[in-house]
Amino acid sequence: EQSRALGSYSGTCTTTDGHRVPLLANVGSGADARKAADAGAEGVGLLRTEFCFLDRDTEPAVAEQAAAYREVFDAFPHGKVVVRTLDAGADKPLPFLTDATEPNPALGVRGYRTELATPGVLDRQLKAIAEAADGAETEVWVMAPMIATADEAHRFADSCAAAGLQVPGVMVEVPSAALTAESILRNVQFASIGTNDLTQYVMAADRQLGPLAALNDPWQPAVLQLIKQTVAGAAAAHENGNKSVGVCGEAAADPALAVVLVGLGVDTLSMSARALAGVAAVLASVSLDEARKLAEQALGAPSALEARTAVRAGLPILE
Ligand code: PEP
Ligand code: MG
Repeated sequence: EQSRALGSYSGTCTTTDGHRVPLLANVGSGADARKAADAGAEGVGLLRTEFCFLDRDTEPAVAEQAAAYREVFDAFPHGKVVVRTLDAGADKPLPFLTDATEPNPALGVRGYRTELATPGVLDRQLKAIAEAADGAETEVWVMAPMIATADEAHRFADSCAAAGLQVPGVMVEVPSAALTAESILRNVQFASIGTNDLTQYVMAADRQLGPLAALNDPWQPAVLQLIKQTVAGAAAAHENGNKSVGVCGEAAADPALAVVLVGLGVDTLSMSARALAGVAAVLASVSLDEARKLAEQALGAPSALEARTAVRAGLPILE
């Protein structure tokens, strides 16, 4: 509702003092990607590749995967698409990959860990992504979900290189990844913070449980601290090349929190297409310095509620 009230999005987001914040879209298919392009997204910040695998009893062939990914690339011929490798398990079980008897699926073999239990699926997916990228002008980045250690980041980067994919990255959604962001980012070129899982894991609160929604809030001080730490880790790893940090969880779609994220030093934001206009309008109402001050206020607040209230009070456009 809010985003509609705040009007449409021209396709470029800048603060009052000219700081550019690329706004990207979270998509799950070629059709989604075309809608996101129409809504003004500069690219895709999170392609959830599960769409190609859902409702299947077997792994889709490389050619079939490549055709599905190519549809997404074709929606952004001059933009960037960040492809996330398969995030099976927990809230996204796949019959041919997920062990349904795991006692704690959120802490189980999910995301990049599938590579340990079922080697080969990742390499075939990377091959499909490389095939789809071949001949496309889209800038294709690839990231792994649920990375927890620098060693995993290193191995993922090696797998990407073997497939001919030039820009490997990781999702930061396990608290250990935020805390060790510097050593992780020495192995890859970018990080994208998945605040949905990062919040669930740092608060130890299942993201699917309604009664825990107040804990599962990305405004929680612990979540903001981990985002700050990730940005600091990226800056410290900078000598190995510039490391971009994005946010692709639901947090990026909350206009007031988007201001805080930019103030914390996050470079890009990725969200559902319908959130773009609202986020762009609020970011366009502040300077980078104001965003930094609001981020400081949020970091200093003792609770999620107080952080949100303080920041919203500092954003007249939201009144
Ligand atoms: C996240 O965890 O924040 C995220 C973007 O990934 P997903 O919601 O697909 O787990
Ligand atoms: Mg996630």
